[in-house]
Amino acid sequence: MKTLIEAAVAARGQSYSPYSGYAVGASVLADDGTIYAGCNVENAAYPLGFCAEANAIGNMIAAGGRQIVHVVVTGPGTNICTPCGGCRQQIREFASSLDTPVTICDADGAVLLETDISTLLPNSFGPENLKNT
Ligand SMILES: [Zn+2]
Repeated sequence: MKTLIEAAVAARGQSYSPYSGYAVGASVLADDGTIYAGCNVENAAYPLGFCAEANAIGNMIAAGGRQIVHVVVTGPGTNICTPCGGCRQQIREFASSLDTPVTICDADGAVLLETDISTLLPNSFGPENLKNT
């Protein structure tokens, strides 16, 4: 857990967020024990920015990972930096179960909230919905 948090904090340090100044880091632990991290990447054309969680997931997918067993998100300040709605759905796509933990930390890695994907995205739509059509 400590290493997963450290990966998110380190990724946050690489954030490209010159417009909002809101740096976010995220890390995902894949089912094979590998940690993948990402940071938010803003763009002068605002809608083109990427969330930290999406980048961490993209890094996992590019390396061949497919199942997430734990997610950590770090953001600034004392308000919890929970994944946005879109990222909740992206996490849901690759979560190993609906109980997959999501830990929210401050910029220093102190845990502010421990939750799970089914709490963040209740009654969610997922890959199994498309398997019986
Ligand atoms: Zn997001």
